[in-house]
Amino acid sequence: MEELRVFEPLFKNTLFQFFLYMALIQLLAQVFLDRRIAFWVSSVGTTMIWLKSFDPTTPLKAWTIIFLVFLIYMFPKVFLHFNLFLYLKGRKRCPDCYSEVHWRAKLCPFCKHRFKGVEKPGEED
Ligand SMILES: [Zn+2]
Repeated sequence: MEELRVFEPLFKNTLFQFFLYMALIQLLAQVFLDRRIAFWVSSVGTTMIWLKSFDPTTPLKAWTIIFLVFLIYMFPKVFLHFNLFLYLKGRKRCPDCYSEVHWRAKLCPFCKHRFKGVEKPGEED
């Protein structure tokens, strides 16, 4: 159990605790709710709990991080039609039926849409 002591400072970090709270509430909320709604329930919920019981700077830092991640995800999606999460999964999105298909697929297995030319993971229209 000695190796686990390495993680001790991490668990004492309030920002880490904040995201841990958020992840736990998200997991719970996802049982009953849609993933997107669960995200908002958990992030807003954690902020409320935090503001009531702890300090206000941690949620502020956490929201800055959430906002930055959101920006990194949204910027290429809006301006380059490139979805980072799809890219990491090695998939692209079918423009007809909006399903995720393998990035090298030439024919959509769901709606038979034919992809023209360029093979690129993460592509989205
Ligand atoms: Zn399709």
